[in-house]
Amino acid sequence: MQHLPSSLQSRSAEATATIVKVETLLLDLPTIRPHKLSMAVMNGQTLMLVRVHCSDGTVGVGEGTTIGGLAYGGESPEGMKLAIDTYFAPLMLGADANRVSALMAALNTMIRENRFAKCAVETALFDALGRRVGLPVSELLGGRLHDRLPVAWTLASGDTGRDIEEAQHMLSIRRHQIFKLKIGRKSVREDVAHVAAIKKALGDQASIRVDVNMAWSELEARHGLAALADAGCELAEQPVAHPDALARIKGRYPIAIMADESLMGPATAFQLAKAGAADVFAIKTEQSGGLQAAQQVAAIADAAQIALYGGTMLEGAVGSIASAHVFSTFRELRWGTELFGPLLITEEILAKPLNYQDFHLELPDGPGLGIELDEDRIRHFRRDVSRTRISAKAVTST
Ligand SMILES: [Mg+2]
Repeated sequence: MQHLPSSLQSRSAEATATIVKVETLLLDLPTIRPHKLSMAVMNGQTLMLVRVHCSDGTVGVGEGTTIGGLAYGGESPEGMKLAIDTYFAPLMLGADANRVSALMAALNTMIRENRFAKCAVETALFDALGRRVGLPVSELLGGRLHDRLPVAWTLASGDTGRDIEEAQHMLSIRRHQIFKLKIGRKSVREDVAHVAAIKKALGDQASIRVDVNMAWSELEARHGLAALADAGCELAEQPVAHPDALARIKGRYPIAIMADESLMGPATAFQLAKAGAADVFAIKTEQSGGLQAAQQVAAIADAAQIALYGGTMLEGAVGSIASAHVFSTFRELRWGTELFGPLLITEEILAKPLNYQDFHLELPDGPGLGIELDEDRIRHFRRDVSRTRISAKAVTST
């Protein structure tokens, strides 16, 4: 049986809050349309929510979400729930809830990998701490530099005409003017024609970028990047899988190369920076292993003069706003963010929806994450409850 260091055990009279309960649940939510990536087609999204209850009555919430189940990485929402219930929770119970960094350091020592689950837990701890002291999470992370963040939209219907219509609609309602096109499922020639048609239709009112999700070989990337640059595409995200290949193609064509899948926290950020493998880092809070780890990735990028982009794992409202708090502390976000996850989901799970307007996401001012869950909606969509509902229905109908 492992034990927490003495610095984290309850400090009796001087302790202001200890962790008394760790609760997890899965939410299954539909998406507005199929979302087609090179490695998966998503028709819905599963969110893992963790709630950390503290002895002073504060409750913090965090989210762990992946892209396409296990298609993107080694963690799934179901796996995160199991890991937190079985391994994280027993270590957290009784710990000082104010010492987030100390608790995360202890969890990092006792639990390998599991970056997404750690991110969810750290988010919940910061949310609870913020509520306790009356400050937004961004201020606990050193203080925000931006109150609103530009948000890109991903065009991934798989159909050029439909993508153009979708982009024109987003421009007309002033929600997005940066578009990321998911390519890599078709041939390079077809993909480039798709991108060129969209850029031609939208012209200078929009920034067009692509995400290849590692689907190209180095040779395909050479052909593809040259043609994409000619078509007016500004940036290519992870065109090839290997960091060495990224380094070989970076700087060869007038198009920015962004590392995404290769970037898995501070250690890989350092390696990519050292290898000169990217013009831009797509920082994802979950991929980084947590809020503070994402800030460390940003610091490495800053030192190496690599530009920043705030990425998404298509998280719902909780994970997206947690990332927004982190990204708001970055000195410069030259390429904006893609925190549109909640807009891809048809169902609202917050009492008050996030504020997307004028091409930006506004950061809430309230304590902690600054959001409140709609508990009726959570009850409705949680998997254990809906499974019970489905099996009850099945019993009645047979
Ligand atoms: Mg990507």
